Amino acid sequence: MRIARYTTGEDLAYGIVEGGPGEEFILEVVGDPLYQTPQPTGQRVALADVRLLAPVIPRSKILGIGKNYAEHAKEMGGEAPKDPLVFLVPNTAVVGPDDPVVMPEITQEVSYEGELAVVIGRFCKDVPRERVDEVVYGYTIANDATARDLQRGDGQWARAKGLDTFCPLGPWIVTDLDTSDLSIVTRHNGKVVQDGTTADMIHDVAALVAHCSQAFTLLPGDVILTGTPAGVGLVESGDRVEIEIEGIGTLGNHFVRR
Ligand code: MG
Repeated sequence: MRIARYTTGEDLAYGIVEGGPGEEFILEVVGDPLYQTPQPTGQRVALADVRLLAPVIPRSKILGIGKNYAEHAKEMGGEAPKDPLVFLVPNTAVVGPDDPVVMPEITQEVSYEGELAVVIGRFCKDVPRERVDEVVYGYTIANDATARDLQRGDGQWARAKGLDTFCPLGPWIVTDLDTSDLSIVTRHNGKVVQDGTTADMIHDVAALVAHCSQAFTLLPGDVILTGTPAGVGLVESGDRVEIEIEGIGTLGNHFVRR
């Protein structure tokens, strides 16, 4: 099932996305499917007639994972850490599909990072890896945009990863997905710059959720970013970055300066 959060220009709504590529439509549901079983309202709207919003705004937290692909760790000039490297991103960084990523004056080096994002569906703590499926609501795509100069200069990543608009999510949440070997492709102004597979994650989804839940109580709507494959690079104002993950879809955003 694909769960979208969207607007037709008035109130925001949630719905189930049905139909094949180019012919998708949305069946509106009552309330937020993260918190209640989706019940159709009877309203149906073409995907082309809505504006998709970030499929979830985490109420409590986004947990990012650094250097979870060996080739990316190498391109950043080091080895991957033995255990997952966890950082926090505020929910004010979240924007949706086609929303601009606004680069502030405090950074001159902004990079894209295409990533699989895990959406938590249940209140949980100390989840053993064999029970992770029970607490995952679904999966979406994230662009873990990063201010490299702030990342280097600050010595920790709160500003580098957490700037307003620096965490695009979307286009929707897919609730049933085998994430063991999904192709993940990032295009920068149409050119393929990242071409990886989730099979190359050092720590898989089950390991990441288990690890994060040892440190933090996870709440419905929390999001875990699973790290980016090799091929990160800097963007300039006006550039468009699209991230496509097999079984989910494509998330596209422009980077802009204002
Ligand atoms: Mg990242």
